[in-house]
Amino acid sequence: MKIKRIPVLSDNYVFVLSDPQQKVAAVVDPAVAEPVLDYLTEIDAQLIAIFNTHHHFDHVGGNQKLIQHFPDLCVYGGAEDRGRIPQQQVFLTEQDTVKFANRVAKVFFIPGHTRAHIAYYFPPTMPGETGELFCGDTIFAGGCGRLFEGTPAQMVNSIAKLRNLPDNTRVWCAHEYTLNNLKFAITVDPENVNLQNRYQEVQQARNQRVATVPSLLGIEKQTNPFLRWDTPALQAIAKHQEPARVFGRIRGMKDQF
Ligand code: ZN
Ligand code: FE
Repeated sequence: MKIKRIPVLSDNYVFVLSDPQQKVAAVVDPAVAEPVLDYLTEIDAQLIAIFNTHHHFDHVGGNQKLIQHFPDLCVYGGAEDRGRIPQQQVFLTEQDTVKFANRVAKVFFIPGHTRAHIAYYFPPTMPGETGELFCGDTIFAGGCGRLFEGTPAQMVNSIAKLRNLPDNTRVWCAHEYTLNNLKFAITVDPENVNLQNRYQEVQQARNQRVATVPSLLGIEKQTNPFLRWDTPALQAIAKHQEPARVFGRIRGMKDQF
């Protein structure tokens, strides 16, 4: 399975999964259709699936137009998003699986950013291979999504599910927010050497306009404050130890940053 990252709008990423042998493709969160259609022409592939993570317009804005071009494709999304995702056909819940090109993705129900948000996880097919996690606006590189429709407790529960995945999992999040996320992260976790190093690397990458997505889950576990509610340094900053309170306090600080 090949994964193509397409930057769209001001800071969104759309991901096209393809199988070069079968000439079929799937797209994750098509904010817009045109660049996806251009790429499909380039690789001469037929679009058979849209995998939506949640209903926000910068994730589903291209659905309609893609269906016009490929009327037989299937639109997947979370069960709780019924009525909010254009042309949704499959309503997924925790532990469902979806197939694409000899690969099977597990679905995680991860409410918090929205009440219906889901993630798609393709485990590695052989030892040493990366897993692929499409987590929309839940985990970002160095950060996490805002809580528009969920509570800190829900988001902790959701992120904990994703945090359980192997370190060697690529995190395909939907926005290039990494530099700003890490600017905030160093203010709440200033002694974290891994974080300091990552911040420097990301500064250099962004100076050269290099994408920082995907990141690796192992690196997120070491450096992303929103996966580190059980770390003493962050508990001290939050003046709490209970996970939802630590997370909620740090999220609140980021909202003001
Ligand atoms: Zn969103
Ligand atoms: Fe978004």
